[in-house]
Amino acid sequence: MEQLSLWEATANKRTDFPQLEGEHFCDVVIIGGGYSGLSTSYHLQEKNCNTIVLEQNRIGSGASGRNGGEVLTGYLGSMQEWAKKKGLEEAKQMWQMSLDSIDLIESIIKKHEIDCAFVRNGSLYAAYKPSHLEAMKKEQEFMAKYLNYEHMHIVEKEDLQEELNTNFYHGASVDAKSAHFHPLNYALGLGNAVHQMGGKIFEHSKALRIERKAGGKVIVLTEKGRVIAEDIVIVTNAYSGDLHDRIKRSIVPVESIMIATEPLPTEVLEDVIKKNRAVSDSKRLLYYFRRTADNRLAFGGSGRASTKRDQENLFHNLRLGMIEVFPQLKDAKIDYEWGGKVGFTKSMLPYIGQLEDGTYFGFGYGGHGAAMASLFGKLIAQMILKEADINNPLIVKSLKPIPFHSQHARAVGILKFYKKLQDRIS
Ligand SMILES: Cc1cc2nc3c(=O)[nH]c(=O)nc-3n(C[C@H](O)[C@H](O)[C@H](O)COP(=O)(O)OP(=O)(O)OC[C@H]3O[C@@H](n4cnc5c(N)ncnc54)[C@H](O)[C@@H]3O)c2cc1C
Repeated sequence: MEQLSLWEATANKRTDFPQLEGEHFCDVVIIGGGYSGLSTSYHLQEKNCNTIVLEQNRIGSGASGRNGGEVLTGYLGSMQEWAKKKGLEEAKQMWQMSLDSIDLIESIIKKHEIDCAFVRNGSLYAAYKPSHLEAMKKEQEFMAKYLNYEHMHIVEKEDLQEELNTNFYHGASVDAKSAHFHPLNYALGLGNAVHQMGGKIFEHSKALRIERKAGGKVIVLTEKGRVIAEDIVIVTNAYSGDLHDRIKRSIVPVESIMIATEPLPTEVLEDVIKKNRAVSDSKRLLYYFRRTADNRLAFGGSGRASTKRDQENLFHNLRLGMIEVFPQLKDAKIDYEWGGKVGFTKSMLPYIGQLEDGTYFGFGYGGHGAAMASLFGKLIAQMILKEADINNPLIVKSLKPIPFHSQHARAVGILKFYKKLQDRIS
């Protein structure tokens, strides 16, 4: 899906980074110019470790420049579920990491004065069914009792009008610590910060092949050049191609699509989402939506199309979905339609680690990478610098390829996977 996104259309002026030509040396070569790669570079440069980021298109051209910009606490699934699976201590660590990830983003934005409309007004998780609200109440009680987390509250159906002007939902759970931002402008700002710190970024520089030298050095070849480094990080997430088979086969890419209305009168938009929160819902094929700094409603959902016609239907259906939630927007013109790939793992949690061949990786954030990918960049940098906390509950020791992955994103398999995933989280 290559349509122009709202974020690209309203982006700050980009820095043009050159294409890699000839031979270059650095400490760490990073493949992928999204949040994960740029943040890894940022945190290494901070410690005077020289990096080169190779991006096959432009920085932020993957999910990092196309997402909903909802910077959310937590993970796919409830923390109760994760505490059952991984134990309470690990769940506590995981939760703290998710809070740290948003604090980290906020501090980077402040430090480098990144103009990306960061708003930390919390998130609202809307209940599609009454039973979903009951589950949210249990989760909120669990969070307060076992994770000492006091920033979550429940909104009953009769009070929902104080948050959203819709009758579509049966109540909600609000988390005050989440945020939203202009996703591409954050990526571009992070890229500029890396550049100012002496990190090198090369665009239109697809990593084609990796070779290893006997002395332990790694060589990455692109069309017109090569990079020779001590360490390599691959953070290509749902856009992983054939560069590293094990990484590619551990990620399930799922399409998500978005639409954005024309700029709406302020009083209309402020009435739709009253407290300017990042909203998502508990529907099997979820919706997520938020206000934008230029007064639009950006509305997302899931979808995968194999033909252009399917694709048009998906956008049409998404608009119908938006109108079902907010009938008052039936005449609002849709100015932008776009999509991108979200990366999932088999366990539904993001993976971070180092493979036997020395490659560092971090991927599979599901719909939570706008927050977590920046923290993963910092953690990968710490692993490389041998400063990492080895008790991190998201570290995986090996990557096991996903069974039905042979055709990589085959429609049927993916859709089944996605529906199962939605069942588990709703
Ligand atoms: C439509 C949509 C909506 C979303 N909404 C949200 C949301 O609201 N909140 C949220 O938390 N998350 C959301 N996500 C997910 C979030 O965007 C991702 O989790 C996050 O951006 C991942 O960042 P990343 O750096 O790991 O990957 P990416 O940003 O995808 O970066 C990977 C990069 O690697 C590059 N690449 C791939 N192969 C090579 C190669 N061989 N050589 C060089 N470069 C290569 C790609 O071009 C790409 O730029 C959404 C995603 C999509 C698509």
